[in-house]
Amino acid sequence: MSKLFKRTKILATIGPATFSKEKIEDLIMAGVNGCRLNFSHGDYVERDQQIQWIREAAEKKGRSVAILQDLQGPKIRLGDLRDNHYDVKKGDHFILDHAVEEHKGDNVLPVQYNLADKVKVDEPISLFDGKVKTHVVRVLSKTAIEVEAENDGFLMSHKGLNLPDTDFGGDIITEKDMADIEFGASRDFDFVALSFVQSASDIEKLRQILLSHGSTAQIIAKIETKKAIETDEAMEAIVEASDGIMVARGDMAVEAGAEVVPIVQRKLIAMCREHSKICIVATQMMGSMVDNPEPTRAEVSDVANAVIQGADAVMLSDETANGKYPLETVKAMKKVILYTQNHSHVSPINHEVTGDFKNYDAISNAVTALSEKIDADIIICQTATGATAAAISAQRPKLPIITVTSNARVAGQLALTYANSAFVRPYTETYGLDLAQELKEQGYLQVEEGKKDLLAVIISGHKDEMGGTDTIQLVHV
Ligand code: PGA
Ligand code: MN
Repeated sequence: MSKLFKRTKILATIGPATFSKEKIEDLIMAGVNGCRLNFSHGDYVERDQQIQWIREAAEKKGRSVAILQDLQGPKIRLGDLRDNHYDVKKGDHFILDHAVEEHKGDNVLPVQYNLADKVKVDEPISLFDGKVKTHVVRVLSKTAIEVEAENDGFLMSHKGLNLPDTDFGGDIITEKDMADIEFGASRDFDFVALSFVQSASDIEKLRQILLSHGSTAQIIAKIETKKAIETDEAMEAIVEASDGIMVARGDMAVEAGAEVVPIVQRKLIAMCREHSKICIVATQMMGSMVDNPEPTRAEVSDVANAVIQGADAVMLSDETANGKYPLETVKAMKKVILYTQNHSHVSPINHEVTGDFKNYDAISNAVTALSEKIDADIIICQTATGATAAAISAQRPKLPIITVTSNARVAGQLALTYANSAFVRPYTETYGLDLAQELKEQGYLQVEEGKKDLLAVIISGHKDEMGGTDTIQLVHV
C-alpha cells in the first residue's frame, strides 16, 4: 500500500495570490486536485486565463484536475460605501436600498439584491460575516428596508449579508448566476457549485438550467443555510438531489451558529458516503496561513479530523486565493493528509443492497474487502459512467484506485473523489493483465521499491455502458 499516495483530495481556490501560470502549476504539482473559481469575484477575461493555466498544468502533470465553478447565488452584498467605511452604533437605524447606486445621505446604503419583497419585520440580518447584527424594523418601499443595529461595529463596501430566517421561496438563482452558468457551459467545467441552497428543489432547478445550456457538469450543493440543515431529512434530500456537497462552514457558522458545524460536518460526510456522493469540507481549514507560514495546532487537527471522518476533499479559500503562503499551505495540508491516512482507518460502509445501484454497491463492497484482505497494491477500475469507481471510493479503501474511462468528463469529476485518479483512454477491448501491463508501461503504475511486481485487483466491464461491470480479476504485474 502506497504511503505516498494522497487519498483525500485538495481543492484550492484560485485568486489574486495565485494569478499566474507558474503559481497555478506549482499548486498542482504540490498536490492540488481541483481548482475552485469563485464567481463572486473576478471577470470573464481573468477566468479564461485561469482556465487555460489550469488545463496546461494538468496536462503537464498527466493527471485530471477538476475545475469547479462556484456560483454566488443569493450571497447578498453591500454596494460601494462612502470612503469604504460606515460606523454603526447599537440602536442606530439605517436603510438598505437596492435602487440606489451609491451611499446616499447619512444612512442609505446600497445593496446588490432587492430584499424588500423577501424579508419580514423582526427577521435578523447580519452583516460583514456576523460582525454587525441587525433586525428588520420595516419595509420602506418596493426596494428599501430599514434595520436596527444590535451592536457597535463598522461596515465596508461589498461586505456580505446573511439572512438566516428569510425564505427565498426557491428563488436563489440570480440573474448574475444565469449569465455565469451560460459562460460556464461554454467552458465545460467539471463541477458547478451553488451557494446558499435551501432545499433539494434548488438543485433540481439548477440541473434543468444546466441541461438547457448543454452542460453535463456535476452539481455541488453548498450547505450553509439554516434551512438546509434544519432536519436530517432536509440535508439528506439535498445530498440525494446533488452529485456532491460542500460543507460551507463559513456562512453556516454565521447563519446557524458555529457550534452546529462539527456535527453537521460529520453527518454530511456519512450521508455522502452512503449515497456515493462527493463531500468537500471547506473554509478556514488553514486560515491562519493567510498570514503565517505554518498552520496552528487546531488547524492541523481540523484537517486531520476531516480525513479521519472520510471526506473526499478538503478545500482552501483565502489561503490560496489571497494569502501570503499559498504553496506552503498546500504542502502543509498534504503532509497532514498523508500522515493521518497512514495512521488511521476509515470504516467501510455496508450498503443496503437494493434498487438501481445494487450492482455497484455489492461489487464495490466486495472489491474493497477483497483487495485489503489479499494486501493488493492497487485497484484498477474500467468504467463508462464512473459509477463503479465512485462506489468503490465511497468504501474508502486504503489503496489507490486507478480508473480508466473513455469519458473526459468522468475523469475530471473523479479528480475530487476519494483515492481515485482517472485517465482518459479510448474504450478498447483490453482487459485484465493486458490492461494492467499497458498502464504499467505508460507509467501509471509504480512498483514499490524492494518489490518485484505489484498485485492489482481489476474491475472491468465488457460493455462500454452503465452497469456493464461483470469481471473481477487479480493479477501480478
Ligand atoms: P464561500 O463559501 O467561500 O463562497 O462563502 C464557503 C463557506 O461559506 O464556507
Ligand atoms: Mn459561503
